Amino acid sequence: MRPSDTGKPPYVARIERIESDSRNNVKVRARWYYRPEESLGGRRQFHGAKELFLSDHYDLQSAHTIEGKCVVHTFKNYTKLENVGAEDYYCRFEYKATTGSFTPDRVAVYSKCEMPYNPDDLMVQCDSCKDWYHPACVGMTIEEAKMLEHFVCFECSEDDLKRSQNGFHASPVDDAKVVAVFDLFLMIKANWFLLII
Ligand SMILES: [Zn+2]
Ligand SMILES: [Zn+2]
Repeated sequence: MRPSDTGKPPYVARIERIESDSRNNVKVRARWYYRPEESLGGRRQFHGAKELFLSDHYDLQSAHTIEGKCVVHTFKNYTKLENVGAEDYYCRFEYKATTGSFTPDRVAVYSKCEMPYNPDDLMVQCDSCKDWYHPACVGMTIEEAKMLEHFVCFECSEDDLKRSQNGFHASPVDDAKVVAVFDLFLMIKANWFLLII
């Protein structure tokens, strides 16, 4: 939908109802999607360029403000897209505009930096533990990571012998680390504070 400031990217909303008054003015009830930078916590490293939050903020808008149609995918479906077009977005959180809180309030984190998955950033998967790592977090460049056919993380290469002896195989789902979204924002703010001092 057309933004109030034409220099900004379009607003994205889910149209939940279409109605017209006696003078045939068509209005739509829009449930807004927020971009990360419009949320109270702001845009963070783990937010993708096409990430949106489904908010609890509704408005009645003139149908004339509609500029076009886009697709807001689930996070899982978005990560499976072969090509991401201009009209493709994804949503993994619902957002309460008044409190700045997210649902779900917990999210899986990966890599040594323990951050949620940003689909814009390349990660490599360990063949053994199935955890995902940013190349920089395991001392590789992105170019080196792209050339890899197999990758085993440092912890797994150390554990390899033990693992083969007792046949133990960790389940990646059971092992996925999960953190509270709220803590994630606090954590990042704390890091910023350290950088400032
Ligand atoms: Zn990392
Ligand atoms: Zn591993």
